[in-house]
Amino acid sequence: MTALSHIRNFSIVAHIDHGKSTLADRLIQETNTVADRDMKDQLLDSMDIERERGITIKANTVRIEFTAKDGEEYVLNLIDTPGHVDFAYEVSRSMRAVEGSLLVVDSTQGVEAQTLANVYQAIDADHEIVPVLNKIDLPASDPDRVAEQIEDVIGIDATGALLVSAKTGEGIRETLDAIVEHLPAPKGDPDAPLRAMLVDSWYDAYLGVIVLVRIIDGTLKKGEKVKFLSNKSVHHVDRVGVFRPEMEQVQSLGPGEIGFMTASIKQVRDTRVGDTITHQKSEVEALPGFKPAQPVVFCGLFPVDSAEFEDLRDAIEKLALNDASFSFEMETSAALGFGFRCGFLGLLHLEVIRDRIEREYDIELITTAPSVIYHVYMRGKDNEPGEMIELHNPADMPDLTHVDHLEEPRIKATILVPDEYLGDVLKLCQDRRGIQEDLTYAGSRAMVVYDLPLNEVVFDFYDRLKSVTKGYASFDYQMTGYRQDTLVKMSILVNDEPVDALSIMVHRDRAETRGRAMCEKLKDLIPRHMFKIPIQAAIGGKVIARETLSAMRKDVTAKCYGGDATRKKKLLEKQKAGKKKMRQFGKVDIPQEAFISALKMDG
Ligand code: GDP
Ligand code: MG
Repeated sequence: MTALSHIRNFSIVAHIDHGKSTLADRLIQETNTVADRDMKDQLLDSMDIERERGITIKANTVRIEFTAKDGEEYVLNLIDTPGHVDFAYEVSRSMRAVEGSLLVVDSTQGVEAQTLANVYQAIDADHEIVPVLNKIDLPASDPDRVAEQIEDVIGIDATGALLVSAKTGEGIRETLDAIVEHLPAPKGDPDAPLRAMLVDSWYDAYLGVIVLVRIIDGTLKKGEKVKFLSNKSVHHVDRVGVFRPEMEQVQSLGPGEIGFMTASIKQVRDTRVGDTITHQKSEVEALPGFKPAQPVVFCGLFPVDSAEFEDLRDAIEKLALNDASFSFEMETSAALGFGFRCGFLGLLHLEVIRDRIEREYDIELITTAPSVIYHVYMRGKDNEPGEMIELHNPADMPDLTHVDHLEEPRIKATILVPDEYLGDVLKLCQDRRGIQEDLTYAGSRAMVVYDLPLNEVVFDFYDRLKSVTKGYASFDYQMTGYRQDTLVKMSILVNDEPVDALSIMVHRDRAETRGRAMCEKLKDLIPRHMFKIPIQAAIGGKVIARETLSAMRKDVTAKCYGGDATRKKKLLEKQKAGKKKMRQFGKVDIPQEAFISALKMDG
């Protein structure tokens, strides 16, 4: 156990690509936490997908030992927090586990939307914040301007900001000194009953679930029995230890310390982020702010090859073992067959899971349109208000005659964008039913705040934003609550049959436009058949848009097969390969890509 006065716990907050991981690596290297020969690229971002996208999905932790200017040895615990809005709750818990933050800002770029979102989390957690201006080795670096911007936009003192190049190592020593000098030591009572916060957890095939803990009061030792307050479950602790960054067992963990415990726990689901851990016999008050993870975005995942359904089930069950915030249940679709309706924390979370299924389990997937959770208020008897149903799938929308009204989730979106693209951004937000709440300037960049319906954002808002601003805008959001609006379920009928996987919830005023666009896209994507195919969009029984795909002309086929036998064989093979990528629906073959493309809102 280390004396409280000699512990410093911190996180690093930054916008993506501003150098968080590189800085963490340098801090580790400078203190010889890892032998140089073991220094891989970016120690802390471990998953492939995280590396590719430059984001951190799980919190990572490392314990660094550092001899400060006063000659004393300090223990510095760095928690690398998830860097994406989907994981805002996890970030908030990691932040509560430490007392301070390094605020890393790329000195060639300046403050971005994620910088703001993350630094506000740090401020909420009462952190002491040390600003770090990174990438000073680059010619475009302008630390004075960026320091000023930090003061203007965030309102924290940046006069003593550290000048750092995480690439060359300049300013790294000073950063370590600043952590010891400026960040407060943790507080805690070693003699009080154990109270530990569950900061994160993940599954390990050998050890079972590994639980990352921050000890608030008391001590945690191997061999003890502990209980988790949220579900009253009791576990026998078989290991406690720290990350250097690889796992190393220790005798005990005391107040202020951050480390891990294992207890042969089988499912991540049983270990909830933010939970309080104490000894089996102790009675303590739960730490504030705990809430179980809630999926907010839902979509269907179907195997392209229906023979792979069982493999998909297997993959999904395995992934869920390690991810308490991912939910799933079986779904059957007339158009797509057997699959799963899955719930995610957000779009990125959805993409990560989908990518992992495709890559790690080698199962090709069809993903249906992401949907949010609508609150459907039913009509009760005799004008009494009826019950409220949570709608996760447009296909389950009850008959309108029984529905009183609907509510949809809204978000507060913050977008930072260079002046010249502001017009396009405002138009995009307006097109997505946004309500402007604020517009201010930070240098030559505008900061706009919009109240937007989440359902207009989940599909391709971020892609559109990137394309209209050539990648120069940054975006972040938080959920604000539910609001009533005129939302309807729109169905798509191909050859007079509704295609369930293409039903969407849409605002009444947008239905015609969306419906028309979808019918046009489907007309382009569905190949001609021997008969004429009507493609319609409808609300209830009322058709609001229609296209007709004309029939194939017989002589064209005759001509193209001709009399050449090898050519005919080749064409047939091609057709067969093409068929695999089709879903037969009624008498119509619909290509798989149609299910996704048809749902894109524009572009
Ligand atoms: P993160 O997304 O905040 O974790 O950022 P990374 O640490 O992955 O860094 C993003 C990119 O910036 C990488 O290509 C780094 O090599 C580069 N980078 C980070 N720090 C510096 C620096 O001080 N100078 C220069 N020139 N490049 C840096
Ligand atoms: Mg990183």
